[in-house]
Amino acid sequence: MAKICIDPGHAGGNTDPGAVNPITGLQEADINLAVAKLVKHYLEVVGYQILLTRTEQEQPETDSLGYRCRLANEWDADLVVSIHCNSATSAQANGTEIYTTVGQTLSDRLATCIINQVTATFPDLRLRADWDDGDPDKEQNFFILRYTDAPAVLLEMAFISNPKEAANLADPAWQNEMARAVARGVTDYYL
Ligand SMILES: [Zn+2]
Repeated sequence: MAKICIDPGHAGGNTDPGAVNPITGLQEADINLAVAKLVKHYLEVVGYQILLTRTEQEQPETDSLGYRCRLANEWDADLVVSIHCNSATSAQANGTEIYTTVGQTLSDRLATCIINQVTATFPDLRLRADWDDGDPDKEQNFFILRYTDAPAVLLEMAFISNPKEAANLADPAWQNEMARAVARGVTDYYL
């Protein structure tokens, strides 16, 4: 079975909490890790091999994106899925989005499979899509996407800066549904 690298964004704790909700103090790094561990679980159950680039709440060496890419590449990952929460200065900003590198690659297929499952699972979660190139992913040459050898995507699940979405991100039941959606997206990729 395929080898899937799941990348929980940010090193956590004092090293790099990622985005932080200004009212509750909820930290992106913690949410990313919780969801990533659940994705690992659901994909392992159906036989995939999984590598997490971070397994602890705070892991300073993972502050290096080069380190994360090396882990994925040396393990010879078949796919890389990076998991993040979005943030904006406006508390109104909301929705989900997924990124690939610029241009059409296998990452586009993976992104479409995952975001379709996410939006089907959460009808209230607005899709922030860029349809210019005929598919819903946005394109950015983020380091983790550019320097991993395997097709890679970066999912911004929802906005931690939005009160309603932050409450969802902190909810274990919501995290579980999100993880199942991401896992189904990966299995769809191989259909
Ligand atoms: Zn992030």
